[in-house]
Amino acid sequence: MDLRIAEQCVFVIGADKPTLVTFNSINRINFAPRKPPLRMKSKLKIYNSYTREKEEFVPQIEGHVGLYVCGPTVYSDVHLGNVRTFSTFDMVYRYLRFLGYKVRYVRNITDVGHLVGDGDEGEDKIAKKAKLENLEPMEIVQKYTNGFHDVMRIFNVLNPSIEPTATGHIVEQIEMIEEIIANGFAYVSNGSVYFDVRKFSEKYPYGKLSGRVIDDLISNTRDLDGQDEKRDSLDFALWKKAEPQHLMQWNSPWGKGFPGWHLECSVMSTKYLGKTFDIHGGGMDLKFPHHECEIAQNIGATGEAPVRYWMHGNMLTVNGRKMAKSEGNGFTPEELITGNHKLLDKGYSPMTVRFFFMTGHYTSTIDFSNEALQAAEKGYRRMMAARKLLEQLKPSETSAYNFQHLAEQCAEAMNDDFNTPILIAHLFDAVKAINSANDGKLSLTANDIEELKNIFDSYCIEVMGLQWEEEQGNDQLADGLMQVILDLRASAKGNKDYATSDKIRDALAAMQIEIKDTKEGATWEVKSN
Ligand code: AMP
Ligand code: ZN
Repeated sequence: MDLRIAEQCVFVIGADKPTLVTFNSINRINFAPRKPPLRMKSKLKIYNSYTREKEEFVPQIEGHVGLYVCGPTVYSDVHLGNVRTFSTFDMVYRYLRFLGYKVRYVRNITDVGHLVGDGDEGEDKIAKKAKLENLEPMEIVQKYTNGFHDVMRIFNVLNPSIEPTATGHIVEQIEMIEEIIANGFAYVSNGSVYFDVRKFSEKYPYGKLSGRVIDDLISNTRDLDGQDEKRDSLDFALWKKAEPQHLMQWNSPWGKGFPGWHLECSVMSTKYLGKTFDIHGGGMDLKFPHHECEIAQNIGATGEAPVRYWMHGNMLTVNGRKMAKSEGNGFTPEELITGNHKLLDKGYSPMTVRFFFMTGHYTSTIDFSNEALQAAEKGYRRMMAARKLLEQLKPSETSAYNFQHLAEQCAEAMNDDFNTPILIAHLFDAVKAINSANDGKLSLTANDIEELKNIFDSYCIEVMGLQWEEEQGNDQLADGLMQVILDLRASAKGNKDYATSDKIRDALAAMQIEIKDTKEGATWEVKSN
């Protein structure tokens, strides 16, 4: 995918047909610096997928939060489903910062060990792609990591504090395996190392996060092929022996091989955030086996549960089915922007899509449809228009509006497990009030207007990560084009190329556009008949 075009361009929302403009020519509204958040009455509660309860969030160390999110496996272009999950946790990261926490946000890059089919057998996804594209595995990793970063930038997803790679932490992964073996929860078999789930479950719970019962798991996996190295079909690989032709392999105490997929997250999260840390996030589809195995590995190594709050973002679906590469229903951000995909009626701007994501709670699925995206486009436009109106409203002496109530409602929504749809509903109540004020039906003082600006910018820009894109009206477009033409004419005149300068003047005159040469330069106007 070549995202260079997409990176520099965006479609102006509101045009009947999407209009492609460069980022430089988008008019951005200038905003005053935002004030710190208003004092909040409510406290942040998070739905902990481990306990299945909404719990008050109390960080391990006051004022600080450790946040880990499973990053992409960089073997293919990112699709919009992936973007939803990363936007969800970007919103979580932004809100924690907005609350004043100092957040260390670790989001990894999976560049080895994730096998086709997500199990212990089969080809490494990256090695497979390297063979297919006839490139070095690290070229594949670089190519798709760059692509991932481009997409994150387009969707205004902030960079994490640390972005570690699995291949950069092979030594630490070997060390963790040794600890797990030493504690009796793993065994070596034919050059590979497996986690002993039965042994582990005699002492610690296994399956709690994903709600699986060990005996059911056994009956489901008993007959799988290629598991003869394992003592039990439930066991999973910590280290896999590599065949000589395998493209990615490292020396280890058990011979040449590569780490299992789940291990990297156990290692990199705790290396940078501590044995136990605050929040671990990822898509719902990672609960099992990935996160279940992560928990077992960390406890197997240290005896301590790694995560205090587990958060899982729900899936973006298409006609009720998870958007996925393998389903053939996943479109890339580039296809989304250009509208060049069979599922898309037209192109949509990245901010429309980000707004669309925020209209659903992160724990609910969101189903993609053109109707839903068009509704989001309309809603986002209404919100932007109201924000723009705040710059133009004439203040009244008296106030008939309670902005404090709005601020409290917004905070309450976000504190209730990051409830962005409710937040948006409250902001739309404010949109109504702003429009009434514009119609002279509601009084807003200068202070009300300032506070409303602060609330909109705080929650829309800082928390939900939206960017205001001002609609580029035809007048502005005409102004810009005329300036280009007048500059060309001036430079022709400067070169004494009067034939060209006259030609430009005559051609414009034929379109009823009159040019006047003044001391300050040329001006233009449309002649009325
Ligand atoms: P992957 O690169 O496949 O490991 O996926 C990266 C992230 O995207 C993971 O957190 C997945 O849970 C998430 N993801 C994959 N498909 C979807 C989807 N359709 N909707 C939301 N998130 C998804
Ligand atoms: Zn992970």
